[in-house]
Amino acid sequence: MPAHSTSVKAITGGRLIDAAGDTVMKDPVVIVEGRRIKTVGARGAVRIPAGAQLIDAGDCTLLPGMIDCHVHVAAFNCLTFDNYRVAVFEVSPQLQMFYSLFHSQLIFEMGFTTLRDMGRGTPRGGYTAELCAVRDAINAGIMPGPRLIVSGRTMITGSHFDLLTLPRAAKREPGFTADGPWDLRRAVREHLRTGCDVVKTCVSGGVADKSDHNVRNMTQEELDAVVDEAHAFHKPVAVHCFTADAQRMCIKAGVDTIEHMVYTDDDAIDRIREAGTYVVPTLLHRSDHAIELRRRHGASEFLVKKMKAIQPACYETFRRMHAAGVRIAMGTDTTVDPEMGANAKELELYVGLGMSPLEAIRTATRNAAEALGMLEDIGTLEPGKLADVIAVDGDPLRSIRVLQDRSRVKLVMKEGDVFVDKLSADRKYVVHPRPGQWKIIDSL
Ligand SMILES: [Zn+2]
Repeated sequence: MPAHSTSVKAITGGRLIDAAGDTVMKDPVVIVEGRRIKTVGARGAVRIPAGAQLIDAGDCTLLPGMIDCHVHVAAFNCLTFDNYRVAVFEVSPQLQMFYSLFHSQLIFEMGFTTLRDMGRGTPRGGYTAELCAVRDAINAGIMPGPRLIVSGRTMITGSHFDLLTLPRAAKREPGFTADGPWDLRRAVREHLRTGCDVVKTCVSGGVADKSDHNVRNMTQEELDAVVDEAHAFHKPVAVHCFTADAQRMCIKAGVDTIEHMVYTDDDAIDRIREAGTYVVPTLLHRSDHAIELRRRHGASEFLVKKMKAIQPACYETFRRMHAAGVRIAMGTDTTVDPEMGANAKELELYVGLGMSPLEAIRTATRNAAEALGMLEDIGTLEPGKLADVIAVDGDPLRSIRVLQDRSRVKLVMKEGDVFVDKLSADRKYVVHPRPGQWKIIDSL
């Protein structure tokens, strides 16, 4: 039996946002027994069991571990590679697996205890097996890191995902793309056999290739086949979607999450709201900061301009969907840009576009857990949940930006185990090299 299974810990803080309701608790205490939360209450009202390990988080805010529903930890990230376009052809899947773990840990240290990874296309195919290996190494407890939810990617020939991964004239591995309902069902089955948790697919164009964003990337029959096949194996489907027509296709097919907010119309918004389908905005990836990083790291002038051109539509669609009551789960599309670990900047964008700070926090906790079908175990600080608890110096309801500050994230607990501790004299970190201490691989 693991050592933590019987241990009892009591975490105290200045305030607690349980993310289940609208209230903030003053002077809270969270009792953790083994992997799960036993009790949440105000100090004085809760008896701290004798022998419990006390974790005094001072005046910090206690929150559920955050969840990013859309990241790409296997990205050839600008933190680690000087030029990602060259890195695509110079870095082996074996080396990139180590970077995937490193990137996951950078985000984990910022209080994100669950990441849903949306895959990486490469000349060697998707990294489904590599990402599953990173997930399994973390789950086995041999490597520290966040809970990873791994996707397998299915795409048609000539689609956005296809052209995003490889230049038009480059030779593809057999099975890299699939066409027609049965071929796509086969692709879904292969990813599921590999061990993915969620199936990702793409029904419209996107930004990072030269075709129009409103190109259809799959027929309704093909999308229905992908969704039916994944659901037959009790796995959810996440869909890259840039247009109102693509959103209508997704609702018709019964997909589980719609990824990205770019273009929409009133009819699509109504259908999404009525279906109760979660939308994952990924606005950080559209921000000026992300565009600037892309430019600095060698993206084409075409791509930089296209990213800037769709930015107002992304922000406007967010405002419209939020006002209409569409369910929103936080996702950043953290990939090449912006930096791994800067994920909570997404929440600042939501607040800037009209969400209250508490609503924004709920997109990255309760709502995200519900969108992933994991609300029973994570997403709120309530008795019975897995003890994913973070302590942040400051009050994110007054300034949402405190969640972005590495020095303020004082405690990261996942399933009852402490991975980051900047509260006690005996400090604990996950990632040992600090920025600037690791080498940037310059592939030129
Ligand atoms: Zn993405």
